[in-house]
Amino acid sequence: MPSQPSSPEVAIVGAGPAGLIAAEVLGRAGVSVTVYDRMPSVGRKLLMAGRGGLNLTHSEEFDHFLARYAEAEPQLRPPIEAFRPEDLRVWCEGLGQETFVGSSGRVFPKAFKASPLLRAWLSRLEGLGVRFALRHRWQGFDDDGTLAFDDAAGQVSGMWVTDREAVENPGAELHIMVRNAVDTEASIVAHGGSLIWRSSPDESETYGTFRDPSGNLFGYYQQAGLEE
Ligand SMILES: Cc1cc2nc3c(=O)[nH]c(=O)nc-3n(C[C@H](O)[C@H](O)[C@H](O)COP(=O)(O)OP(=O)(O)OC[C@H]3O[C@@H](n4cnc5c(N)ncnc54)[C@H](O)[C@@H]3O)c2cc1C
Repeated sequence: MPSQPSSPEVAIVGAGPAGLIAAEVLGRAGVSVTVYDRMPSVGRKLLMAGRGGLNLTHSEEFDHFLARYAEAEPQLRPPIEAFRPEDLRVWCEGLGQETFVGSSGRVFPKAFKASPLLRAWLSRLEGLGVRFALRHRWQGFDDDGTLAFDDAAGQVSGMWVTDREAVENPGAELHIMVRNAVDTEASIVAHGGSLIWRSSPDESETYGTFRDPSGNLFGYYQQAGLEE
């Protein structure tokens, strides 16, 4: 018997409403989905949108509603016909969030804000096996076509803490992986540290040690190929 093809894997960049609904549709279709976002939590703008009352859609007659999209209407008609304003209300109510029509004809969740809706939505996505990778900023594609993310490990930031007793000869040397040893050394010196030792230039890996302004000993390490 021919083997079953493994289920496709999809990466979605952006955990806003657009990314979350894409994750839901794909998750329901049995696709393995990971949603990446540069922020530490999902749906931040959606939560902000809900502060003054989350206007989900409008209850006006369908053709009037479509006319609001002006010159984009011909392009948007098919997807909006496939998921009409009343479908959005049903979807929302499926997440336990009843909706109501305000005096202006606009539609809101009864809770008015976005947080209960987002919570229920995330729980549904979790049930569908959708994974989230937060603090992952999509940078583009690597040469081999794979997605490139900056998971915030691309730089070390912070400050020297100088009011502690220095560890001048630590039992273990902590080496910080860096992209470029030369830039790192310049930065250490510029910030009051001192360089102690560096590997010889003909070694395939560049590494060395330095002291912070208090005298604590650290190492840095630049692996071949990491430099841009
Ligand atoms: C104050 C306010 C009130 C609003 N009120 C309403 C309202 O009542 N009704 C309504 O329908 N809309 C409202 N909106 C608009 C609504 O919030 C947006 O239309 C909606 O959030 C857009 O969804 P989105 O998924 O396209 O984008 P976003 O919500 O912006 O999500 C995009 C996500 O992608 C992430 N991202 C971007 N670049 C990268 C990258 N390189 N790598 C990884 N992640 C990345 C971002 O961090 C973000 O989480 C309001 C907006 C604001 C600011």
